[in-house]
Amino acid sequence: PSGKYFASLLFDCENQTAEKRQAEKFLGMDFSMHGMCVFSTGERAGYPMFYRNAEKKLAREQRKLSRCEKGSRNYQKQKKKVALYHEKIKNQRKDFQHKLSHSLAEDYDAVCVEDLNLKGIAGGLHFGKGIQDNGYGQFLSMLGYKLEERGKYLIKVDRYFASSKICSVCGHKKKELALSERIYLCECGNRMDRDVNAAVNILKEGKRIYKKCA
Ligand SMILES: [Zn+2]
Repeated sequence: PSGKYFASLLFDCENQTAEKRQAEKFLGMDFSMHGMCVFSTGERAGYPMFYRNAEKKLAREQRKLSRCEKGSRNYQKQKKKVALYHEKIKNQRKDFQHKLSHSLAEDYDAVCVEDLNLKGIAGGLHFGKGIQDNGYGQFLSMLGYKLEERGKYLIKVDRYFASSKICSVCGHKKKELALSERIYLCECGNRMDRDVNAAVNILKEGKRIYKKCA
């Protein structure tokens, strides 16, 4: 890979401080539309059910608001209700993200993630909006500082290596992988959930970067 892939690493060889600990436990993590994160361990972390229910309720209240006559007393009342719900959901999401990032930072020495250029993704690909709605970027920054506090690492991997087209076992790269293909199948015999396959790719590349720097 060319140097440009290392330009935006959070894991910065130059700025390593002495207090940084030796990383032994690594985790690969990828954003997933099916649940918020998918891990190289095969696990997923999605928003809890209460959050989804609250979102449904918010949508209902918003529809009610749209039926109210603008400026009327009911409209004002309903508007307040919707705002309260927004706030509630925002707090629940933040709470969930704090708990998840806390437990990851406790359990692992280094978490490897895709270097998401959120702006680029939102501008180009259709799932950009989903990423923002789910607050994945916010979650990554929480995770980043929690790891940092513990002398641990958030390692950013270039998107090229996170490609879901690459087989995480043999390294073969498929020319095409349709979004509908949920299982990654390779001639080498690898048969893996496509998101997990990508998370393993991220883990492998993150470990390589760590070794190069450590
Ligand atoms: Zn393979």
